[in-house]
Amino acid sequence: MFARLQGKNVLVTGASSGIGEACACQFAASGANVIITARRLDRLETLRAKIQSTWPGVQVHAAEMDVRNNEDVERVIANIPGELAEIDILVNNAGLAMGVDPVSDISNDAIDTVIDTNIKGLLYVSRAVVRIMKRRGSGHIIMMGSIAGMTGYVNGSIYCATKSAVHSISESLRAETISIPIKVTEIKPGMVETEFSVVRYHGDKDKADNVYRGIEPMTASDVAESVVFAASRHPRCVVSEVVLLATGQA
Ligand code: NDP
Repeated sequence: MFARLQGKNVLVTGASSGIGEACACQFAASGANVIITARRLDRLETLRAKIQSTWPGVQVHAAEMDVRNNEDVERVIANIPGELAEIDILVNNAGLAMGVDPVSDISNDAIDTVIDTNIKGLLYVSRAVVRIMKRRGSGHIIMMGSIAGMTGYVNGSIYCATKSAVHSISESLRAETISIPIKVTEIKPGMVETEFSVVRYHGDKDKADNVYRGIEPMTASDVAESVVFAASRHPRCVVSEVVLLATGQA
């Protein structure tokens, strides 16, 4: 529970599972109103019902939004009802890994999907929300980067490139909006066991499990704790970056 988050309006992208879902719950637990978005509306409706029954004082708005589609992003953000539209905090979390393959074998679909989601989608959402925050004269944008953005690894060319871009966007946005002020935080998790683990290997659970051999991965809640911690600091203080590793991870 962080008292400073009480009554804040928080938009979470990719809230239908994993880290985004955990963030939505932890913000709601601190009394923040949440706007939850993703493509799987059925999952969002289930989450909305859970939040409403667990934290009845909190407002929840669920909306289907594909971050790759700028018209979708603009329409959904323009249609957030009432005072919820005054977004205080954005958690730019939607993202995925596909095409975890040698460069010679990467499909066009993987290149387009990962870049469109992790970079272009993040920029579309940031642009729409920064306009609101500039008008309001304050705000906080939390980017879901990755330790993959700090390095490169075998078969990681597209994903690492996109998370490196998240870092560049975060640094640029922080410099650009410092006088408003809009806070910018980049969270860089290591191994977190979520649906992501299986999605990146096209549903091959054995390959996914192999990544964690001998290591206990973090949970989505572990990452969400850092997100709400960063979001709940005093206005004079910004958590600019968090690197969060599974304890056994080199
Ligand atoms: P999940 O697969 O559980 O969650 C990914 C979320 O992104 C889902 O809610 C999904 O919703 C959403 N999403 C994917 N594509 C789109 C799209 N085009 N439009 C809108 N939403 C989309 O994985 P995680 O929770 O692990 O991933 C969340 C973030 O954390 C990602 O940015 C990932 O890169 C990052 N991360 C994950 C790590 C890990 O080890 N798991 C480590 C470091 C960073 P839906 O399919 O319903 O649209």
